[in-house]
Amino acid sequence: MIARRLDGAAWATLIRTELVPRVAAFTATQGRPPGLGVILAGRRPESEIYVRNKLKAVSEAGCRADLVRIDEDATLQEALDTVARLNADDGIDGILVQSPLPAAMGKGAEQRVFDAVDAAKDVDGFHPENVGRLSQKRQTLVACTPLGCIELLEREGIQIAGRHAVVIGRSDIVGKPMAMLLLNRDATVTVCHSRTPNLAQMAATADILIAAVGRPGLITRDFVKPGATVIDVGINVLTTAEQVEHLCAEGSAKRRAFAEKGSVLIGDVHPNVAEVAGALTPVPGGVGPLTIAMVLRNTITAAELRCGVLR
Ligand code: NAD
Repeated sequence: MIARRLDGAAWATLIRTELVPRVAAFTATQGRPPGLGVILAGRRPESEIYVRNKLKAVSEAGCRADLVRIDEDATLQEALDTVARLNADDGIDGILVQSPLPAAMGKGAEQRVFDAVDAAKDVDGFHPENVGRLSQKRQTLVACTPLGCIELLEREGIQIAGRHAVVIGRSDIVGKPMAMLLLNRDATVTVCHSRTPNLAQMAATADILIAAVGRPGLITRDFVKPGATVIDVGINVLTTAEQVEHLCAEGSAKRRAFAEKGSVLIGDVHPNVAEVAGALTPVPGGVGPLTIAMVLRNTITAAELRCGVLR
């Protein structure tokens, strides 16, 4: 079997197009566009790329998109003051704080800064109030990456209710909200993590397998029930020929990309999973673009909720 490719990039393009009229309607009735403020501390290259992509998607749909930079050596108080300023700005409906914050801000800084974001503007869905509302299946802002995975499953017509979903990874950003979203759609959900024994055996019972670990190629074909749907959330950069040769077949596109650029992106799912899975997301071009589309959707939703357009 060669798995059906779940083309997240194509769905993301469609979703972004579908959202444009919602932005236009909001702008027409409120006299201003929905607004997103992204706080970026320092100059980490990956963060620069993620932030640029989010701002681009939001502004291309017609929203206001502000980049608010703070220095690499900014204090926690400066970060909190920046959040407070965006909380008080009525033209800003959504606030994103790009993770990770510089280590110099101290342990626990990220949690303090995320908690300081007004829950009504928390387009990342990280605020405890929004996490609680998700667990109670109430209208809320939900973390963009798991929301994108659900959107993909639903648009691809993959049944969730009554199926067994295994989520590998239990982070607050991906694994836990992913499990909650699946549970809210009537899947039977198992959450696995770094201390789970017999991980492959457990994973191989899944109809829907979500890999959100951050270990390149960890999920090999023996983790996958034949015909299962596999969503690969992991984004890992391979930079050595040894890693690439270990994980990617000779003559593969990944090997060619590495030869050209000196690095290549690979998910948590080993390429040989395509031989057993029924459907599989690629990396890149799977979950990543949907995450960006969900940043846009959450910005619009936050704006509509704040202005009473949505209830
Ligand atoms: P994290 O490091 O916060 O969490 C990783 C989780 O994996 C932990 O819960 C840990 O228990 C589990 N884990 C670690 N090693 C394991 C092992 N050997 N076996 C089983 N479980 C193990 O990471 P995260 O923020 O949840 O991100 C996970 C991956 O998803 C990363 O590669 C990240 O880059 C990627 N990611 C992608 C997107 C996207 O838009 N595509 C968004 C967010 C994160």
